[in-house]
Amino acid sequence: MTPGPVAPAFLRYGSAMNINGLKFCVIGGGLGGLAAALALRTRGGRVTVLEQAPALTEVGAGLQISANGMAVLRALGVASDVPEAGQLSGGTVLRDYRKGRVISRIAPPAVGPTYYYHRADLLDLLHQAALRAGVDVRLGARVEKVRKHPGEAEIVLQNGERLRAECAIAADGGRSAIRPILNGAEAPEFTHQVAWRATIPWEHQEDVPRASLTMGPGRHVVSYPLRDQSLMNIVAIEERSDWQEEGWRRQGDPDDLRTRFADFGGPVRDILSKVEDVHLWALFLRPVAQKWQNGRLALLGDAAHPTLPFMAQGACLALEDAWILIRSLQDHSGVTRALAAYEAARRPRARQVVAAAGANARNFHLRGPMRFAAQAALMAIGPRLARRYEWIYSYDATA
Ligand SMILES: Cc1cc2nc3c(=O)[nH]c(=O)nc-3n(C[C@H](O)[C@H](O)[C@H](O)COP(=O)(O)OP(=O)(O)OC[C@H]3O[C@@H](n4cnc5c(N)ncnc54)[C@H](O)[C@@H]3O)c2cc1C
Repeated sequence: MTPGPVAPAFLRYGSAMNINGLKFCVIGGGLGGLAAALALRTRGGRVTVLEQAPALTEVGAGLQISANGMAVLRALGVASDVPEAGQLSGGTVLRDYRKGRVISRIAPPAVGPTYYYHRADLLDLLHQAALRAGVDVRLGARVEKVRKHPGEAEIVLQNGERLRAECAIAADGGRSAIRPILNGAEAPEFTHQVAWRATIPWEHQEDVPRASLTMGPGRHVVSYPLRDQSLMNIVAIEERSDWQEEGWRRQGDPDDLRTRFADFGGPVRDILSKVEDVHLWALFLRPVAQKWQNGRLALLGDAAHPTLPFMAQGACLALEDAWILIRSLQDHSGVTRALAAYEAARRPRARQVVAAAGANARNFHLRGPMRFAAQAALMAIGPRLARRYEWIYSYDATA
């Protein structure tokens, strides 16, 4: 890593902080961690990313990045106006499960379009940009503890190695091992939702493809194309009373998937018939963290605010966090004040978005008369539905 020149102390601790030369350890090389690392490094921070996995890979293929997330990717320089590797979305078609009847067509948000990314592609864009900028990305480096010392954080790895940094950022995901240091032990709760995730080869070409959201009692299926429409990404969610497996993810049986969604007709039936390889995720949650930082250590992304995927906002929120964290570090005197400002700016927004995703879990899976009433309302509101969530998409962390 090539460290940036170290700023004189009076510059670093004046009314606004110059992060040039400050040392940062980012725990977790997911989307949130890499975005934060890249932003810090391009402002002259000396950044080490510690990632437990031996290679940076993303499982589960698709990711919708709405305008609020795209604003950060653009500011990071990894997405131009026609974003590399991304697929422009033409909106979402809502369908009823039985015959796939169209209930409503939601136009792309007026504030800016959503893009569909293959997770591995987006992760690779961020990883390569971080390496080019001079971020030190260490793989196979699992962090066990972070201790606070005067003026710095001590990061303890599983292999016993210790690192010191002026600031540690824990972007270690929904099962964060670092979050309990700030919030005490909180066992993640099973949400009674299970996600099946698969991709299939795809041949149909649309000018501007749309996502499809097919809703049935206790279940829904989201599908959208990836990689120049050569793949179709499928996420099928079902309510389940229990999860017997030990882990959060396991290989699934495509026939079991088809049986569980056997009463889904229309395009979804055709799509599910082509699935040959599928994985299952049990969706576990912790609440939005009460405490996000202690003056030297801050939580970011799913580590701070795991969310159900029903607003497609988890990664977008992590990107927003990364940008606001860097802005706070630049705008405040000293790391301690900056992290407090970051927490104050981010917690209310994260709570609102996480709550909206939780509400959709109910809306998508309605049963009986409630379902018919909701469908009638959706038909009446129609394309204006996108406006309902404009407060999410119009948020521009980089403005
Ligand atoms: C079915 C499904 C669909 C989704 N769809 C969307 C969508 O369309 N749009 C969207 O915005 N979001 C979506 N999300 C949410 C999104 O995937 C997450 O919010 C996002 O990946 C969080 O990023 P992160 O960097 O905080 O954590 P992660 O991506 O989980 O990364 C954490 C990293 O930390 C590493 N790590 C963990 N512990 C340690 C440790 N102790 N030491 C070192 N490294 C460690 C992990 O190996 C991992 O690489 C979806 C989620 C699901 C489940």
